[in-house]
Amino acid sequence: MLTVNAYAAPSATEDLVPTTIERRDVGPHDVLIDIKFAGICHSDIHTVRGEWGPQSYPLAPGHEIAGIVSEVGSAVTKHAVGDRVGVGCMVNSCGECANCQAGEEQYCLKGNTGTYGAVDRDGTITQGGYSTHVVVTEDFVVTIPEGIELDAAAPLLCAGITTYSPLRHWGAGPGKKVAVVGLGGLGHMAVKIAHAMGAHVTVLSQSLKKQEDGLRLGADEYFATSDSGTFETLAGTFDLIVNTVSAKINVDEYLSLLALDGALVNVGAPAEPLSLNAFSLIAGRHSFAGSMIGGIRETQEMLDFCAEHKLGAEIEVIPASQINEAYERVLASDVRYRFVIDASTLS
Ligand code: NAP
Ligand code: ZN
Repeated sequence: MLTVNAYAAPSATEDLVPTTIERRDVGPHDVLIDIKFAGICHSDIHTVRGEWGPQSYPLAPGHEIAGIVSEVGSAVTKHAVGDRVGVGCMVNSCGECANCQAGEEQYCLKGNTGTYGAVDRDGTITQGGYSTHVVVTEDFVVTIPEGIELDAAAPLLCAGITTYSPLRHWGAGPGKKVAVVGLGGLGHMAVKIAHAMGAHVTVLSQSLKKQEDGLRLGADEYFATSDSGTFETLAGTFDLIVNTVSAKINVDEYLSLLALDGALVNVGAPAEPLSLNAFSLIAGRHSFAGSMIGGIRETQEMLDFCAEHKLGAEIEVIPASQINEAYERVLASDVRYRFVIDASTLS
């Protein structure tokens, strides 16, 4: 066992505090990663505050991990000491079901093992990336290509893949009109990636406060959803809408923005149920779908795509002591556009 420094929530209602957590010994197929940076995802906040259901505490969140391999198990072939690597939202899966076999481990029929707050194979509760080191089986460790700094790469492990996967699946590219709802951590990566894929990109944000940024990130157009005229102006426009909003939205309003055969894909995961009127789907052969992160193979593909197109996240690097403050700013939609913890401040 390795005892390492971390930041963890003692309960659903308390601030995160400095603490130590245990990492298992490096097994034959394991990689020990010296964590350099960890992104703060809105899912960390939903989870530690118990919004998605009860958790075991103390809980160290963090599933956007970038670091350097510092030790490998005897049977490891994919990674070597000194490699730049990343770990995202899952650290294991059954490996045998149809979905795992298809490289879609996130949809493992037995449930993937989340990077934190999940029961690991040895019965212990996994702990996330707000810490100095993590031990992960090599199959769930991806390579961060040269050309992306580790701090800007960390958010790609969740925000990047969660937006890349539906954009690919629903065919974002030249000739396609894509809208991104919410310009936060996921949203800003969706804009960058959809633009790099060649789609025509529109941001739908609550206000025009971030318009200049949105256009600089690659959006062609930018509208405020607080302006009811937006929904009239854009009715019937989009082939694909990726909703990244962390709160409940009016689904019918967004479905009305779809062109014939268009899809509204929800990646935002509010605790409250979403509802819709059947006619919003029927009229226009619309789809309402969801998408969860991406498989390991696709995560590597996304990292290579981002390196090729020189896409990192727009980040604000913070010391661990500012995590709680950062949470409040994320909740106030005041993130530009991902907080990333400098893990050296945990030592
Ligand atoms: P974030 O940085 O907080 O971004 C969310 C954005 O949504 C905000 O910046 C804001 O954008 C908009 N928003 C927030 N509250 C709103 C409200 N009440 N009404 C309308 N718009 C609102 O969060 P994130 O880290 O990108 O995560 C977004 C959501 O995706 C979370 O629910 C998270 O749990 C979920 N998620 C899902 C997956 C998956 O696999 N499906 C993976 C990661 C995260 P504007 O200011 O531009 O309006
Ligand atoms: Zn996330």
